Amino acid sequence: MEELELSEPGPSDILVRIVGVGLCHTDVKALGGGMGVPKPVVLGHEGAGIVERVGERVTKVKPGDHVVLTYDSCGACRACAGGHPAYCEQTGALNFRDARESEPGFFRKGNDRIHGHFFGQSSFASHAIARPQNTIAVRKDAPLEILGVLGCGVQTGAGAVMNSLAARKGESIAIFGVGPVGLSAVMASVVCCCSEIIAVDVLESRLAIARQLGATKFVLAGPTVKTAEEVRRLVPGGVNCAFDTTGRTDSCHQALASLTTKGRFGFVTIPANSFEPNLAAMMLGGLSMRGIVQGDSVPNAFIPRLIELYMSGRFPFDKLVTKYPFEQINQAIEDQSSGKVVKPVFTFAS
Ligand SMILES: [Zn+2]
Ligand SMILES: [Zn+2]
Repeated sequence: MEELELSEPGPSDILVRIVGVGLCHTDVKALGGGMGVPKPVVLGHEGAGIVERVGERVTKVKPGDHVVLTYDSCGACRACAGGHPAYCEQTGALNFRDARESEPGFFRKGNDRIHGHFFGQSSFASHAIARPQNTIAVRKDAPLEILGVLGCGVQTGAGAVMNSLAARKGESIAIFGVGPVGLSAVMASVVCCCSEIIAVDVLESRLAIARQLGATKFVLAGPTVKTAEEVRRLVPGGVNCAFDTTGRTDSCHQALASLTTKGRFGFVTIPANSFEPNLAAMMLGGLSMRGIVQGDSVPNAFIPRLIELYMSGRFPFDKLVTKYPFEQINQAIEDQSSGKVVKPVFTFAS
């Protein structure tokens, strides 16, 4: 682990001692040079910890508060003002391109500046600087170490089902790709009282976890498997909701083709190859398609809600988590990509 210096928090900043931080696919993408993230940078965007200090203008939290850090948003644009911070007009600048690099809160190594505002937090570090907009106070009796995952991956999957697709009691849903995001969607489908929850994945081990979390039917995907046909065989006529987490063009086609009349399809990853939906089928079936960011989560309300559900035993997201000491980050990346673990969370010795 490298020693860096962190600037003093500015008047609107919040200094957080990180207790646990999740590993999300976006960290791995940024590591590989994706999304225009400037380097050198401290990654990490699913931090949870304890507030150590706040700038003089901060009234939202105080030292000692337990907090979950989430994506950053400006709080002032049309999307933010309309209650849709996930679609903030400043999303790219604030979360990826380090729009605040001239402000306090970045790391230094000697004279070299290290970018420190990834997702407004850069929480792969013992301390992070966040802002009121992306700092959510949470109840102190919840297991703080693992709560950070709620700030991105878990709220993305859960929110896609609960907010974006708004699955209703008695509806059927098929979830394509049951990694951390898809498994969160499975748990959320249980919360929404869906009648059938179909998990689709290439890994049998993932389908087994989906079963534990409440999925009712399963499709083992593979190069020759027409997953839409399988879904329609399991739920004659097709499903009300389909959710893709894979970002694979063929998977998106299959998800859309698995819908029944008036069905809703949602996706959270941009397919690498162009995706051309069957517009005739969409029109004649009254189908809709939704791009979804962060599960349409309004974090101030949604993260505490997920914690309430967890504490009452209805949203067991701890079953996704495997803890690693922070020093084992490379091992964790390898274990996640091989499917050995679902969601690594790094902990810091205090
Ligand atoms: Zn905004
Ligand atoms: Zn993420």
